[in-house]
Amino acid sequence: MHNGRIRKLVIAGGGTAGWMAAAMFARHFGEILDIALVESDEIGTVGVGEATIPPLHLFHKYMNVSEPEFLRAVQGTFKLGIFFENWRNLGENYFGSFGWAGRERWAVGFQNYWLRGRRLGLARSYGEYCLETSAALRNRFAIGLHTVLNYAYHIDAGLYGQFLRGIAEESGVIRHEGRIEQVEQDPASGFITGLRLQSGQLVTGDFFIDCTGFRGLLIGQALNVGFDGYGDWLHCDSAIAVPTAITAPPSPYTRSTAHEAGWQWRIPLQHRVGNGMVFSSRHWSDDEARARLLDNVQGAVLAEPRLIRFRAGQRRKYWHKNCVALGLASGFLEPLESTSIHLIQRGVTRLVELFPERGVREPAIAEFNAKTQDEIDNIRDFIIFHYHVNGRSDTPFWRQCRTMDIPDSLTHRIELFRQTGRIAWNPGELFATNFWVQVMLGQGLIPEQYHPIVNAMGKDELGKYLADIHRQVEERVDQLPGHQQFIDDYCKAPPA
Ligand SMILES: Cc1cc2nc3c(=O)[nH]c(=O)nc-3n(C[C@H](O)[C@H](O)[C@H](O)COP(=O)(O)OP(=O)(O)OC[C@H]3O[C@@H](n4cnc5c(N)ncnc54)[C@H](O)[C@@H]3O)c2cc1C
Repeated sequence: MHNGRIRKLVIAGGGTAGWMAAAMFARHFGEILDIALVESDEIGTVGVGEATIPPLHLFHKYMNVSEPEFLRAVQGTFKLGIFFENWRNLGENYFGSFGWAGRERWAVGFQNYWLRGRRLGLARSYGEYCLETSAALRNRFAIGLHTVLNYAYHIDAGLYGQFLRGIAEESGVIRHEGRIEQVEQDPASGFITGLRLQSGQLVTGDFFIDCTGFRGLLIGQALNVGFDGYGDWLHCDSAIAVPTAITAPPSPYTRSTAHEAGWQWRIPLQHRVGNGMVFSSRHWSDDEARARLLDNVQGAVLAEPRLIRFRAGQRRKYWHKNCVALGLASGFLEPLESTSIHLIQRGVTRLVELFPERGVREPAIAEFNAKTQDEIDNIRDFIIFHYHVNGRSDTPFWRQCRTMDIPDSLTHRIELFRQTGRIAWNPGELFATNFWVQVMLGQGLIPEQYHPIVNAMGKDELGKYLADIHRQVEERVDQLPGHQQFIDDYCKAPPA
């Protein structure tokens, strides 16, 4: 292993991953490390990645970022979850919120009470017992006001990069602009020693973070770390993205609409709407996908639609020798549950925790790689679930998703829920039981049983219990302002 002290950190790539890493390391290691970032204006960034999940708050908190300032800078809006249209079947919709439905009672989840209530004809739809779902569908939002909503953001990806760059440069990060032509390595150890730019300049360092996007210039091309594709489970391999003008106040949720061979996202920002079609190129041509997307956007198209190819899968290692890969260089599942920026955040914080300031050591590498892999396997299963458990028989794409083999870990989760109403969940997994329950019920997986403890509650008591929860949810939503009004008061951005 490399026993030298780490004094200089070099980040290759200046997309969301590169600047998140640069900002966080500069804030926390600025005193003990020289930090440089190399990016190429000519290559640019992937330019998508605009929906997030709640833990992003924490990342900003660790960097002392003011929330209104951040939201103004990125033309941000709030996100309470995802509205899934036509996923279960054509014309059938559900909401996957960041909140918890109902109230837990003792040892069993609320879904057990709801299932019994449903059998007895006492229960409303599951989402009506969830504050975040009800607020989202009524376009309401607030922070504070005695109501704690679990929320995330919609952000402009380009502006977020600029915002983070400001933090990083202010904290001492040196930016080098130019195309990396050669990754220099120590012939004996294979450790990376520097990045040679097209101009001839050599940016040397002791430790490197590969944030070069799908290229994986350091981790893949120089260090030869292989890639495991998930194409047998996740069939989408392409996306077309297009921004449109605003036609209505922004909804506090992402819209995900399933189509014949993929799905469409709609992400409302303050200054525009981000749209995209994620699709399988084996089932749809680019022209078909583009036409379907343009037929289904609202508002004037603001730029030429952009095609992005990707391969769902992951690197076999995320940390190898003196290099850690973050962002798309480390792999990509697909954007359905907006997990990619979160994985960058986790990668950055994990590397901060394990940072090898006294020299690279094998146990730290093993820990980083194992924890990252566990996290990704869990997210992978959650995403596959959306595709696999569907009731659509209208196209080959959906039939193939339904009949494909799935990972054993996911089969176990599905069967446990189907047969018992219980959720398989391990501490530390990103998607907590409330996420699984909402999506499992939403996709049409209704358990055969509920927990027998629920029968201890009489029918009248159960009816009152459910009605009380619903009433409280409604009362709290009534008190919330509209999403647009809250944005105007809290974080209105200047005109773009
Ligand atoms: C269709 C799609 C939709 C997505 N939606 C979401 C979403 O809603 N939510 C979410 O969390 N994530 C989403 N993602 C993922 C998200 O976009 C990325 O995780 C995020 O943008 C980080 O990208 P990156 O920084 O790894 O790569 P990039 O943005 O591609 O940045 C790569 C950087 O490396 C530089 N570079 C590359 N080669 C060289 C070279 N030779 N020399 C110098 N510099 C070089 C580039 O100039 C650039 O600065 C989506 C991804 C796709 C494909």
